[in-house]
Amino acid sequence: MGSEYNETSEKLSKIPKINFTKLFINGDFVEAVSGKTFDTIDPRTGEVIARIAEGDKEDIDLAVKAARHAFDHGKWPRMSGFERGRIMMKFADLIDEHVDELAGLDAIDAGKLFIPLKMGEIPAVADLFRYFAGAADKIHGETLKMSRELQGYTLLEPIGVAGLIIPWNFPSTMFSLKVAPALAAGCTMVVKPAEQTPLSALSYAHLAKLAGIPDGVLNVVTGFGHTAGAAISSHMDIDKVSFTGSTEVGRLIMQAAATSNLKHISLELGGKSPFIIFDDADVNTAVDLALNAVFYNKGEICVAGSRVFVQEGIYDEFVKQAVKRTKAWIVGDPFDSHVHQGPQVDKKQFERILYYIEQGKKEGATLLTGGNTCGEKGYYIEPTIFADVKDDMVIAKEEIFGPVMSLMKFKTVDEVIERANNTIYGLACGIVTNDLNLSNRVSRSIRAGVIWINCYFAFDRDCPYGGYKMSGFGRDNGLHALHKYLQVKSVVTPIYNSPW
Ligand code: NAD
Repeated sequence: MGSEYNETSEKLSKIPKINFTKLFINGDFVEAVSGKTFDTIDPRTGEVIARIAEGDKEDIDLAVKAARHAFDHGKWPRMSGFERGRIMMKFADLIDEHVDELAGLDAIDAGKLFIPLKMGEIPAVADLFRYFAGAADKIHGETLKMSRELQGYTLLEPIGVAGLIIPWNFPSTMFSLKVAPALAAGCTMVVKPAEQTPLSALSYAHLAKLAGIPDGVLNVVTGFGHTAGAAISSHMDIDKVSFTGSTEVGRLIMQAAATSNLKHISLELGGKSPFIIFDDADVNTAVDLALNAVFYNKGEICVAGSRVFVQEGIYDEFVKQAVKRTKAWIVGDPFDSHVHQGPQVDKKQFERILYYIEQGKKEGATLLTGGNTCGEKGYYIEPTIFADVKDDMVIAKEEIFGPVMSLMKFKTVDEVIERANNTIYGLACGIVTNDLNLSNRVSRSIRAGVIWINCYFAFDRDCPYGGYKMSGFGRDNGLHALHKYLQVKSVVTPIYNSPW
């Protein structure tokens, strides 16, 4: 086995009690209209954690009705931005107070590491609510200097009812990336978490109510994509859909918006990001960054730097060190503090990754390490490195969404720019070099929404994030995200009392 499978050492007994399993509509936890439920599965074992209410079109209708009423008649869009911000700050404090529970829910539901959740991701969720709380009372339009004797100004108004459809790889972060700016803008909303990871969104809904977010403003409908998700994208009374997920589903959402009410949409989709290491890089640092860029969150991350281009001068040394360190990578229980990588989110994702590993072997890439499953049960896969990957191989073109690195050697800057851009996606790019001119040139030549130079996954709430090309459009994070939930109204009046 390429890496150590660790099942027992220092296991943290942080598995939370499951308190919420029903839909959250108009401030109450309710059963689905159909009475149906679905199982949410623990990827460590493949066993059922809890049965969750399975929302469908009828439940989406009820949630939209509540959100519509809260938008058209409720106080949330009408209260001052300052007051909205104050309530959001309270929500953020409650998230901090429940960090163990929220981290435990995402760890058990998604197989994510508990310690990074507790120390990093969940506190960052609370801070994202604080960031947008601070923006809520700074939503300003412009005064217009017009060409005739008119005066005018613009109002930035909340767009209305937002449908927020999120994936399973970062259940808490994705929830906050959509909900925080929508709340700050004064929108009301229906959130549809991924069916693989419904647990934490229901706990956030409970905390939002405790914080004082009025009933109907934030509704959470758990359920499947082709039913509950599709009902959101084709709903006539939803004004905006913000979606993160696969490119394939993004296309369906765009079609549904076009054939229903032309609702606004923003799409954060898939990627196959290049990670480019130049000859002058320190190999140790480059290996650290590259392993993190591919294996972080077990590779289930849309910005994974999964195509690793290494310049020929340091290629052999890079390979030697990358393989050595990957073999020491510990795969095991996400509640164990020594573990680097937990299980893949579910059986489907597990099988999909194994399929790609087989494709890599069949197409003639060299398997340097990994490639196997680990453990007796659950969905664990060894971190895997393929060398001699050609640009036209399936593992170089398609998003694997798993711990699989495709290594490619290159000679010149022009060559690597061309090969890095040779993808339908454009989400991110990593560059490792100490040459400022080189990093400037490459960062301006790559068609991607975020460029990380001598770092990777350097996310910040103030830094807009989203895709070029088939990785989608619209940005999360930063004030760009707030503007996705606002629309512009121009108000015009004559300066003098003359008729127009
Ligand atoms: P997915 O597209 O299958 O599902 C995402 C969400 O969409 C889920 O809530 C799902 O229930 C819902 N959905 C599915 N079918 C739907 C339909 N017909 N109508 C409406 N909603 C529907 O994606 P996934 O497999 O859950 O997640 C993995 C994908 O997400 C990867 O391709 C990854 O790159 C992408 N992703 C992108 C980003 C980003 O910021 N760009 C972040 C995370 C994940």
